[in-house]
Amino acid sequence: MILVSACLAGIDCAWDGKNRLDAGIKRLLDENLAIAICPELLGGRNIPRARTEIKGGNGEDVLNGKAKVFDEEGKDVTVEFLKGAYATLSIVKKYNIKKAVLKSKSPSCGVGNIYDGNFKGNLIAGDGVTGALLKREGLEVSCRDT
Ligand code: SF4
Repeated sequence: MILVSACLAGIDCAWDGKNRLDAGIKRLLDENLAIAICPELLGGRNIPRARTEIKGGNGEDVLNGKAKVFDEEGKDVTVEFLKGAYATLSIVKKYNIKKAVLKSKSPSCGVGNIYDGNFKGNLIAGDGVTGALLKREGLEVSCRDT
């Protein structure tokens, strides 16, 4: 079983109320080979919601208490992002999942690159909060851009 970002599977859970469909990921879900999660919803965020980015570092830094997540209006939503990441980890452990395919660049799901915190489309190296936690726990984590 593979863990996938719900928006890649066609679920309308992105900040703008839309999905980020990847046909290959949806096929995995349709064939019962994947579990779809949205860490931001698991953390208590709504649909739609203000865009969010990590300021002062990346997801690993957030896990270490050295950076925070803010929405575009300046509200600190770090607690929700941590809650969503650890809720995702609970699902991973429950189903003994070893592999995840997540949505690129997201402050939650991003892998390898994320937005830099200025809401201007610039990227920095690093993972989102959930991406970082799953890597830390030893999962094989990759991402898809859409
Ligand atoms: S990128 Fe992750 S947190 Fe954002 S909508 Fe998709 S599944 Fe949810």
